[in-house]
Parts: sequence; C-alpha cells; structure tokens
Amino acid sequence: MKGKGKRNSGFTLIEIIVVLVILAILAAFTIPAMLGFITNAREKECISIRGTLARGYTAEYVAAHPEGSDVTLDEATVLLKISAIKSYGASTTLGNLCPSGGTYTVKSVDQAHVVIVCSKHDSDTNANAYDANKSYKKDDIVIKNHIKYLCTNACTGIDPESGNNASSYWLVIGTDDESIPKYFYKSHYQKDVVVIYNGKQYRAKVKGAQGTPSSPSTYWEAVT
Ligand SMILES: [Zn+2]
Repeated sequence: MKGKGKRNSGFTLIEIIVVLVILAILAAFTIPAMLGFITNAREKECISIRGTLARGYTAEYVAAHPEGSDVTLDEATVLLKISAIKSYGASTTLGNLCPSGGTYTVKSVDQAHVVIVCSKHDSDTNANAYDANKSYKKDDIVIKNHIKYLCTNACTGIDPESGNNASSYWLVIGTDDESIPKYFYKSHYQKDVVVIYNGKQYRAKVKGAQGTPSSPSTYWEAVT
C-alpha cells in the first residue's frame, strides 16, 4: 500500500495568503487613484455649479438694476441666493451646493459680474490653520493665532511666526475675522494691509512692509 493520503481539494493556506497579498498590492495602487479621481470630479462639479450661479446672478442683477448701478456685497449675496434657488430648487442655500460640503460666498462684485468662492475648493478662502506637516506653495493662505498669512514662495516647513526667517515667505494679509490686526514686529505685511500700533492705524505702502509703523515711513502711512 502506498501510504500517501489523498491531497485535500481546495486551496492551501499559502495559496490563500498569496492571493490576499496580490489583492492588497492592487488595492494600494488603485484606491488612492480612485480617491484622487473622486476629489477631482467633485472640484470640477463645484466649479461648474458656481458658473451656473454666476450666470444666474447676472440675470438677477440685470432684472434688479436695469440702469446698471453698483451693488454691495450684501445685495449681491441676496441676488446670488435667488439665483441658487431658481437653478437648484427651493431648499438650496449657498452652504449646501458644493459636492464636498463647501460654502459659497461672494468674493467680489462688479455690477453684473460676480466672483463666487468655495470654502473647500477655492484656495483664496481655503485658509486652514497652519500645519507644520503640510506642504505650502505660492498663494496658499494659512491662519495662525487668528492672523492670515499669504505664501509668497515655497513655504513648506517655514512657520509663519518664526520671525525674519519667515518674512520672505509669508506676508500678513489680515485676520480670520476681518478685524484689524495688531502690529507684530516679526511679520512682514502685504501691501494695503492695515495694522493697529499704539492705538493708531497704519497702512502698508508696499508689499513686504516691515519695521515699526510710523508716519512718514518707507513702509507705512497713517490711516486718517
Ligand atoms: Zn466646492
């Protein structure tokens, strides 16, 4: 008699592990690509929605201002809400249209032309707390201690509060609540930013303004 037992049909443990490893490798390559694809698609949809809203705004503006007068940001926002409801239904708000959950605001308005930004998809409003582990490029905006900074160069790894080291990378452009920032001697300022120093307001005359505000000064002019 030959003593060898009959081999069980089915898979051995080794075979199952090999299959699982192959699946894991495939997933490692395809899942990030899929997520990137979804993110990209949502951003494109968001841009398209904002385009529709902007065209709707223009129609509302023309109806409300046939004489072509100026509108304030507040009024533009009201017209934009009407445009959103007409395009996307009665329950639509400027906070529930972006597929990634962003909120739309009017950034600027020039009569019939409106610029709408998304809090999730527009770098201008996408100002998040500074994170030392994130990479930052030109025109990114971050917030640290309620101060908003604009990146003017490759800012990765540069803390906006690290003084002279940071000043050629980050410029102060304001605060996160639109109040006037207190002058901070370590910072450099974007042109036209207003600061408070010793109870007085000063406006930066040039990009990269620095030094203690006084008037007259190369960098600062008193706001009257
Ligand atoms: Zn969006």
